[in-house]
Amino acid sequence: MGTGGRYGLRPGKGNAEGVVAGKGNTDGVAATPTPTAASASCQYRCIECNQEAKELYRDYNHGVLKITICKSCQKPVDKYIEYDPVIILINAILCKAQAYRHILFNTKINMHGKLCIFCLLCEAYLRWWQLQDSNQNTDPDDFIRYAKEWDFYRMFAIASLEQAAFFTGIFTFLWVERPTTAKKKPDFILLLKALLLSSYGKLLLIPAVIWEHDYTSLCLRLIKVFVLTSNFQAIRVTLNISRKLSFLAIVSGLLVESTMVYFFQRMEWDVG
Ligand SMILES: [Zn+2]
Repeated sequence: MGTGGRYGLRPGKGNAEGVVAGKGNTDGVAATPTPTAASASCQYRCIECNQEAKELYRDYNHGVLKITICKSCQKPVDKYIEYDPVIILINAILCKAQAYRHILFNTKINMHGKLCIFCLLCEAYLRWWQLQDSNQNTDPDDFIRYAKEWDFYRMFAIASLEQAAFFTGIFTFLWVERPTTAKKKPDFILLLKALLLSSYGKLLLIPAVIWEHDYTSLCLRLIKVFVLTSNFQAIRVTLNISRKLSFLAIVSGLLVESTMVYFFQRMEWDVG
């Protein structure tokens, strides 16, 4: 399954020939850890068993790199460091826990803020498009551009509030369940980052709307299911909790979000 010999997430490490050759043998060799791998604390995780690890690979002399083997499960700590990013993305789309652990724990991806804004813009555009569609023949102010623009900002604010409500429901549930979910304090900042990153499926809203056809509503529902599945997996991997708790956290988030949607509909702010 491996594509071998690529360090796409590690700029400056072009020579990875020794990685595969040295796999499985880390004992008894004088090692010189690289600056990125060297750390006093266990800042990485084994993608197979979630055990903490000090390093993902070692840079031996003569440019020989070797993947670290997990002491707990005896498998490579993170096989994805030599995989092509496209393969990792496909594995993430397939909701593989290993790919999620690699992205969340073993990379320095720092685009969750931008991704969140972009996803909200996609959602705002979808709602705005639905609003324009429903008001096409009835709105006498249709030609006033600034009114349309205001509608877009309104939809963006509503989408943001609903997203916040969804996350609030999840965090509240996990906070209440905290004593049973983890022995140590759960890392909610990492969880927020994981939830934002795992909502990347919302980017599909734009092509679904642009290529409008008879199945658009079905596509939108499928996208919603995909995003929720990704969120479910992100919660499970980040906090290392059971599927049941992760599912209940998602349900709690949906309940709070639905309450806010109902509130907006009562206030007649939303498109209904
Ligand atoms: Zn392991």
